Amino acid sequence: MIERSDLAPIQEAVHALCADFPGEYWRALDRDRAYPEKFVAALTKAGFLAALIPEQYGGSGLTMSAAVAIMEEIQASGCNGAACHAQMYTMGTVLRHGSTEQKARYLPAIARGELRLQAFGVTEPTSGSDTLNLRTTAMRDGDSYVINGQKIWTSRAEHSDLMLLLARTTPREQAKSRTAGLSVFLVDMRAAKGKGLTIRPIRTMMNHATTEVFFENMRVPAQNLIGQEGEGFRYILSGMNAERILIAAECIGDAKWFIDKAAAYARERIVFGRPIGQNQGVQFPIARAYIGMRAAELMVREAAELYEAGRECGAEANMAKHLAAEASWAAADMCVQTHGGFGFAEEFDIERKFRETRLYTVAPISTNLILSYIAEHVLGLPRSY
Ligand SMILES: Cc1cc2nc3c(=O)[nH]c(=O)nc-3n(C[C@H](O)[C@H](O)[C@H](O)COP(=O)(O)OP(=O)(O)OC[C@H]3O[C@@H](n4cnc5c(N)ncnc54)[C@H](O)[C@@H]3O)c2cc1C
Repeated sequence: MIERSDLAPIQEAVHALCADFPGEYWRALDRDRAYPEKFVAALTKAGFLAALIPEQYGGSGLTMSAAVAIMEEIQASGCNGAACHAQMYTMGTVLRHGSTEQKARYLPAIARGELRLQAFGVTEPTSGSDTLNLRTTAMRDGDSYVINGQKIWTSRAEHSDLMLLLARTTPREQAKSRTAGLSVFLVDMRAAKGKGLTIRPIRTMMNHATTEVFFENMRVPAQNLIGQEGEGFRYILSGMNAERILIAAECIGDAKWFIDKAAAYARERIVFGRPIGQNQGVQFPIARAYIGMRAAELMVREAAELYEAGRECGAEANMAKHLAAEASWAAADMCVQTHGGFGFAEEFDIERKFRETRLYTVAPISTNLILSYIAEHVLGLPRSY
């Protein structure tokens, strides 16, 4: 296990890289809803996005705690890792469930950054959180599968070469269990664009490069099926703990950024002849946000340590994501309040980070679904849906 002090050099290196991408960089992109190509290229070149790929496939083979430190530091430095966080963990499904050939073919190229695997096609417009009810189908035809259907909120699809896609291969009523009959495919979007694959960007309240994706008789070679046909839901679930822990880490980084900004401003801003931070009405919300962030941070660390020890961490990953998303949102709201009118000015970056961090109580899993998971799987309460 890595000691926390060993993570300091990683955080310092990430911090130094992020210093080249100040608020003006993000503000300009935000205005145009443009992708942070230079930032992603710099992170890739430095090897940070290959942190979780084992060394035998050309990655850095770091632990989840190290990956957490990277994502947290990106956000705490005022940058936005959402542009590329999925490049770090989406490959986990290939690593854990892919064939020897698939791993050899894709992982080294992903580690080098030559291939981007950062699009994850699960959510659909009609089924939403009810993933098992998804309607996109994959029908075997000779040596390929023919895909029809639609995904929504497929983030970064325009900036990814590959997409991890979940589709139904056996009709629900014929599947051997409630969770069977779904399969995972690695779709080469470079080959499929214009041949049954259409990507349409969705403009959102923040700069997130998310899209809706349409499949019309799109062919995927059968060799791009990951693992066994019909077992895809299980494979996707196995990757979700990593996603939740890393996104929780981003939320902790966001919360730290908001708290630092607010404390600095409260120390300096003079109103009624004294710093506003001298008023308990101003300092208590900052202290409360700090306490909430620190408590969430402990759960993120616990989840990461369980994960890297190869132990079950579903409850901890979900609780970490929940606590961290709540902590970052509370800190964001507090930061705006502390800044008064200036909290709304673009040049302070607070309103941008406020919009960005709002996402995480909804995606990649919404608060209610986490509460349902804990109620059912930890507390033994009846399943509610
Ligand atoms: C910017 C953005 C990026 C995203 N990126 C991706 C991506 O890359 N890939 C991907 O596959 N998906 C992605 N998503 C989708 C995201 O995971 C979903 O939006 C999220 O899981 C919620 O699903 P939904 O939007 O369909 O809401 P719904 O499932 O329609 O739920 C709406 C509300 O009802 C609540 N609700 C629903 N059912 C219940 C219940 N039984 N009990 C209590 N409450 C309930 C939910 O908690 C939620 O608050 C993204 C979403 C956004 C907004």
